Parts: sequence; structure tokens; C-alpha cells
Amino acid sequence: MDASRRTFLMAAGGTAANELGQAQQHDHDHDHQDVPSDPTLRVKALESLLVEKGLVDPAALDALIDTYQHKVGPRNGAQVIAKAWVDPAYKKRLLADATNTIAELGYGGRQGEHMVVVENTPTVHNLVVCTLCSCYPWSVLGLPPVWYKSAPYRSRAVIDPRGVLHEFGLDLSPDVEVRVWDSTAELRYLVLPERPAGTENLSEEQLAALVTRDAMVGVGKVKA
Ligand code: FE
Repeated sequence: MDASRRTFLMAAGGTAANELGQAQQHDHDHDHQDVPSDPTLRVKALESLLVEKGLVDPAALDALIDTYQHKVGPRNGAQVIAKAWVDPAYKKRLLADATNTIAELGYGGRQGEHMVVVENTPTVHNLVVCTLCSCYPWSVLGLPPVWYKSAPYRSRAVIDPRGVLHEFGLDLSPDVEVRVWDSTAELRYLVLPERPAGTENLSEEQLAALVTRDAMVGVGKVKA
């Protein structure tokens, strides 16, 4: 975790704790938290119940998690972005029909069925969030990071996107328009970041190596 991320999470956690404290208006010396204290236990209990009732095959569950944790990750998305940077026809198709154009590279399926790619330009910056829960394009980015699922990110990305970007270390000039995209189970967004200056001579593979997950969510830029 880099310093900016840590700062954001600490600030976000502090804000949530403050708001909760004010809402509850009582004296105490314990820490509040806005998520259940035992989510892991709850998940485990649910899993056990589903397995016991024969609704879920634990081996299938393990295979699924292993796939998205180890085999699919932001490198898939990076390949898509690099190709869009070097191949104008691919980029045009990508912006018009992301789902099928991403599938051309073999990436698709679960949690990537309905994709939309939004392009950053010198005058427009796109930021992706799921205000309701944690919808995320698994097929190109793998599993979402913890901060993406956090209540502070989900609410503040909409209320104060520039503030959130600042805490991620990204300060945009006031004349850049910030567009926030709220993902759903039906639509998942991928940001096409700007290709950094000075990368004219890099190969597609070298370009892909520069593309970060954060840039494809819109909380960062790609650096040369
Ligand atoms: Fe969601």
C-alpha cells in the first residue's frame, strides 16, 4: 500500500467514525466501525450452510476464487488498454462495444458481461465506483481492492470526487471535468487512461506494463 492510499483510507475511516460518533451522540472510549465486526465469520457460516444444503460445491467455489485471485487480474485490463493505445481501429471498437471488443482478446465471462469503456482525455477524467456494493469488472481487473468496497470510497467518490482523487495523490486542474460512473451488476466500467507522453517508442507489451489497476478505475494516471 502506498502512502497516498494509506492517507486516503485513514482519512476516510476517520470521517466515517466522526459521522457515526456525531449521529450517536454518546460518550464512549471504544472505536466504532461501520462494518460488522465479524464479516469473515458470517461468510464462513453462509458458505457452510450452502454447502450443507447441497447448493454449492466447495471445490467449485475454491476453483472460482483461485481463478480470480491468481489467474485473472489487472494485467488483462492492461493488455486491453495498451492495444487501444497502439491500434486506433481497436480503440474505436472498444469505445463503441466494450464487451465484444474486450472478448476479442479472450477476456470475458463472469462479472464482465456488460462492459463500458470510458476514455480519459486532457479535458475529461473518469472515475469508477459502485455506490451500492462492489460491482467491478472481474474479467479485466480481477477482484476489487478493499478500498473500492469501503463505505467511505463508495459515498465520497460521488460527493467529493476531487477530494478522493487528491487523497490518492491525483490533483486535477479545475478545468478538467470529472465524470463519476456508478457501476451496477448490469454495467461495469473500465477507464481508458491517457497514454503518457514520451512513450511513442514503446511496444504494446512495454505499454501494458505501465498500466495500473488504479488508472483503470480512475483513481490514478499512467506514468511513463
Ligand atoms: Fe455493486
